[in-house]
Amino acid sequence: MNAEIIAIGSELLTPYRQDTNSLYLTEKLNQLGVEVVFKTVVGDNRRRLVSAARQALSRADILIFMGGLGPTEDDLTREAVAEALDLELHRDPEILAQLEKRFARRKMKMSPNNEKQADILFGATVLPNANGTAPGQWLSGKYDSKEKIIMLLPGPPHELKALFEEQCLERLRAKLPEQFIATRTLKVAMMPESQCDARVAPIYKRYPDIQTTILAGAGEIQLHLRTRADSLEAAQQRVDKLAGEIEDELDDSVFSSNGESLEQIVSYFLQMRNLTLAVAESCTGGMLAERITSISGSSRYFVGGAIVYSNELKTQFSGVPADLIAKHGAVSGEVAIAMAEGIRERCHANLGLAITGVAGPTGGTDEKPVGLVFHALAGDGKTDVVEAAFPETANESAGSPRNKRSTW
Ligand code: AMP
Ligand code: MG
Repeated sequence: MNAEIIAIGSELLTPYRQDTNSLYLTEKLNQLGVEVVFKTVVGDNRRRLVSAARQALSRADILIFMGGLGPTEDDLTREAVAEALDLELHRDPEILAQLEKRFARRKMKMSPNNEKQADILFGATVLPNANGTAPGQWLSGKYDSKEKIIMLLPGPPHELKALFEEQCLERLRAKLPEQFIATRTLKVAMMPESQCDARVAPIYKRYPDIQTTILAGAGEIQLHLRTRADSLEAAQQRVDKLAGEIEDELDDSVFSSNGESLEQIVSYFLQMRNLTLAVAESCTGGMLAERITSISGSSRYFVGGAIVYSNELKTQFSGVPADLIAKHGAVSGEVAIAMAEGIRERCHANLGLAITGVAGPTGGTDEKPVGLVFHALAGDGKTDVVEAAFPETANESAGSPRNKRSTW
């Protein structure tokens, strides 16, 4: 079964409030093997709400409405869902009594507008809300000869979570066939998104049961594979098979085959080989060391390094001869190599890693444009350097090199 989540509240259509409830619900639904196929955000407007409810009914099996169950004029969810389903609302005397008691306990008089919180869709089960005044509602049955499950849940996240966990999860589980979702995330570096897709599309197109999504992020491309089956093993085997074929095609460009970050993979490799690392960074200003040290246990392999932004410090801290900088410029393969070798030696590390480049947005020239970056890695008796031309703006693409000119 597939689900649609409908978040209700005009504030969710402003830049100031986000619909976070649907993220929580999606995770819970996925664990039950339910895919969320649509998410809708609607303001507090009855006509639009009715229209959103009708549309959701036409395209999803499970509908979760959240928000708009309060006592105020703009809380219209009950009325709108009733209209869309062509159902009557009735005022539940028991809920009314509970509401009155709740107010009495606080020595407050209940104002009449609170009464509508006791309005229940005909045939719905009331889901008591231990953390607030508005109860939820559960309705299941045939609509246009198709089986539907409809939930109305309160908007405040702590109320929604408690209510969903305590009262909806088991009810849902009882209604659903056993289904499991398995996922795999592959991460790819040093390749533009279009090239990556051109190579893997012929492979994933042969697996129509697997949803494959390509996401371009900063410095990496992620391939998300996802499938559903009636056992977790079957689902997992299916995504693993496709993941294996994609890895065969992309080979070394896949740096992570199960969602791990680049720094995590670096950590595995260095520890497996019992190697230590030092860094000399220019244009990244410490970001490289920051990522490396974000991994728990990085002190086992990372010894430290230096931010050598100025030419003077490139010489002083990473041993780059001043005349080498004068001859080739600070952004050059020669200087990157000298930085890597220098920092390796000075920090007594097995490996020295260096970055020098034109980060921009200013400072680029025709010869050395913004985005030109040299990376060098120095090991025992061997240093490699890579020249990369990154796009000028982060928005331009995945942050992968536009035209890698490798000088390995
Ligand atoms: P309501 O039930 O519409 O009165 O919403 C009560 C409060 O819950 C509002 O202040 C919202 O900011 C919050 N809320 C409602 N819907 C959501 C949502 N989808 N995600 C996160 N917060 C929400
Ligand atoms: Mg609201």
